[in-house]
Amino acid sequence: MLHPSTELRTINPTIGAGVFASEPIPRGTIVWIRDPLDHVFSPEEFDALEGPIREHALKYSFVDGQGSSILCWDLAKYVNHSCEANLLSTPFEFEIAVRDIAAGEQITDDYGSFNIEAPLECHCGSARCRGVIRADDAERLVPEWDAQVRAAFPAVIEVAQPLWDFVQDPARVEAAACDPARLASVAVNYVGAEAGVHAARTQRPRGSSAPGSRR
Ligand SMILES: [Zn+2]
Repeated sequence: MLHPSTELRTINPTIGAGVFASEPIPRGTIVWIRDPLDHVFSPEEFDALEGPIREHALKYSFVDGQGSSILCWDLAKYVNHSCEANLLSTPFEFEIAVRDIAAGEQITDDYGSFNIEAPLECHCGSARCRGVIRADDAERLVPEWDAQVRAAFPAVIEVAQPLWDFVQDPARVEAAACDPARLASVAVNYVGAEAGVHAARTQRPRGSSAPGSRR
C-alpha cells in the first residue's frame, strides 16, 4: 500500500504514468508497505501465466527475496525507477523515504533491487544514472543502500507514519530505529544465486514502460 499523500500522474506518452508526492513526505516515512491485498505469485504460478495476462504481470510485478512475484493492487505498481531513488527497500516488508520528498516530486524506486532478470536501459536523467539497470546491480549497490537506509531509519519513529498499522512487527522496527547499526542488510531482499532460486523473470518490473522512460 502506498502512502496516502501520493497520486498518479501522466508524464508523457513515452514514459506513461508515474507516482508523485501530493504533499511533502519527510525522510524516514514508510511510503510503501506490503499488505494482504497485494497479489503474490509463486514461481510456479507465475510461470503458468500466459498471453496478455503474463505480459501485464511481467510489466507491473516485482520479485521479492523469496522469489515470489508481487503484483501490487494499488498505485505502487506505477512507481518508476531512478538511479537516485528516493525510496529504498528495508529488511522489513516496506520501503522508506531515504531523503525528504517535496510535494510534486516523483516517487522512485531502484529497480536494481527488484531481482530483474534482463538488463533495462535507463534514461532516468540522474547525474548518477547507471545507463543500464542490471540483474547484479544489487551485489554492488547493497553497501550504499544499507548506508542510506541506516541513516534514514532513526527517523522512522520520529515522523508521521500513516501506514504504521500495516507494520508486521512494530517492536522490531522501533528497536532498529533506536539502533540502526544493527539493522539487517537490505541484501535479504535479493534472490541470491547461492539460494538456488532463479525466479527473477521480471524483465519489465513494477511500473516500467518503454525505453526512454525514467528507467
Ligand atoms: Zn538511471
